[in-house]
Amino acid sequence: MVRVTLHGAELEGLTIPEPAASVRLLIPSGIGDDLEMPTWNGNEFLLGDGSRPVIRTFTPRRLDSAALELDLDVVIHSGGAVSTWIEAADVGSPAAVSGPGRGYTVDSDAAGFVLAGDETAIPAIAQLLEVIPASRPIQVIIEVADPSARLDLTLPDGSAVEWVDLDPAAPPGDALVPALTQLEIAPGAKLWVAGEAAAMHRVRRHLFDDRALPRSDVTVRGYWKLRESVGSDS
Ligand SMILES: Cc1cc2nc3c(=O)[nH]c(=O)nc-3n(C[C@H](O)[C@H](O)[C@H](O)COP(=O)(O)OP(=O)(O)OC[C@H]3O[C@@H](n4cnc5c(N)ncnc54)[C@H](O)[C@@H]3O)c2cc1C
Repeated sequence: MVRVTLHGAELEGLTIPEPAASVRLLIPSGIGDDLEMPTWNGNEFLLGDGSRPVIRTFTPRRLDSAALELDLDVVIHSGGAVSTWIEAADVGSPAAVSGPGRGYTVDSDAAGFVLAGDETAIPAIAQLLEVIPASRPIQVIIEVADPSARLDLTLPDGSAVEWVDLDPAAPPGDALVPALTQLEIAPGAKLWVAGEAAAMHRVRRHLFDDRALPRSDVTVRGYWKLRESVGSDS
């Protein structure tokens, strides 16, 4: 995970009212290219030559409105357009952001919380941990493909993080889903889960079909798709 700090006068007026929200990051199409702003053709954003711009979605991890800075925590992985951009980027490399997209409304009256996901969910989980009232028990499960992705997360007393390692040969979710299945979930707890799309499909099946949890207690978000670039054009 690498922290990218965006800075610029254009960030003036940006507000992020809720945790686990999103912003869209636009980067140049090729290393060293200028940043070209795309135009909306009524259906999708396109660049002047008709190609699709490189736009990806991230969690706005920290906004400093006074310093006009926005931090994104990005999971580095091979073949990722943003990973490649970050490796070549330097201070002053151009990028643009739009947003924010909807976040998560924390129900302070909930009996407790279960926060779960893969590495891409860590920034949102860290934000949720900052705003959930300390009196509420929180169970956190995070699946990591790279054991070094484990971070120190601050949790209230009585709450715990379970880190589960994904076997390199296994599809995303193969460690997360069994860990969620074994979890004892208190009645009335709210659940927030995010990660790879097919893994999230398995999570929904487990929570709604096997456990019959009320939909209003559960938020499950597909953050990326295995072998597919997501969020590239809309
Ligand atoms: C609301 C929301 C919030 C998000 N917040 C964050 C965040 O804070 N930090 C973050 O890192 N990501 C976050 N994501 C996920 C991120 O948008 C995707 O992982 C995105 O594809 C990354 O773009 P890329 O240029 O790195 O890879 P792409 O160019 O989109 O993908 C190239 C290839 O890499 C694969 N791939 C994509 N992501 C991963 C991954 N994480 N691990 C392994 N393989 C991958 C794809 O399947 C594809 O085959 C968020 C997504 C959403 C919808």
